[in-house]
Amino acid sequence: MTTQSLSKDELAAKAQQARSQSIATYSDYRVGAALQTVSGEVITAGNIESSTFGLTLCAERVAMFSALADGHRKFSAIAVATENGATPCGACRQILWEFAGDIPVYLINDTNEVTELSMGEFFPHPFDSSKLPEKEHGHEE
Ligand SMILES: [Zn+2]
Repeated sequence: MTTQSLSKDELAAKAQQARSQSIATYSDYRVGAALQTVSGEVITAGNIESSTFGLTLCAERVAMFSALADGHRKFSAIAVATENGATPCGACRQILWEFAGDIPVYLINDTNEVTELSMGEFFPHPFDSSKLPEKEHGHEE
């Protein structure tokens, strides 16, 4: 299947729509993420909150884990929508770096302003598998 890649604004709009997938029962802070694969497919997710709070999962990681579970391994961009254009948290930066590397990140807020940054800007000194001794580790390609 050949799929056309979305533009920055189109991907940001998908993230904005994905806020409706959010289960933000406790914070009411709805986040949407739209993760694009190199083949142009888009996986969307919202944040999912738990009554235990600590088990809450951000939209970025829900999207990434969902994509990985579906067999996707290469990503070209991610858009994240929040009411105030917030950046991904530290845990999401680690996971996005590990599985997507230095991709563009589009942040969109309630007034549909889109800010573009890169994972390298968010996460300039990452810990990843290149820091581990050479042996079998990491995720399967
Ligand atoms: Zn996060």
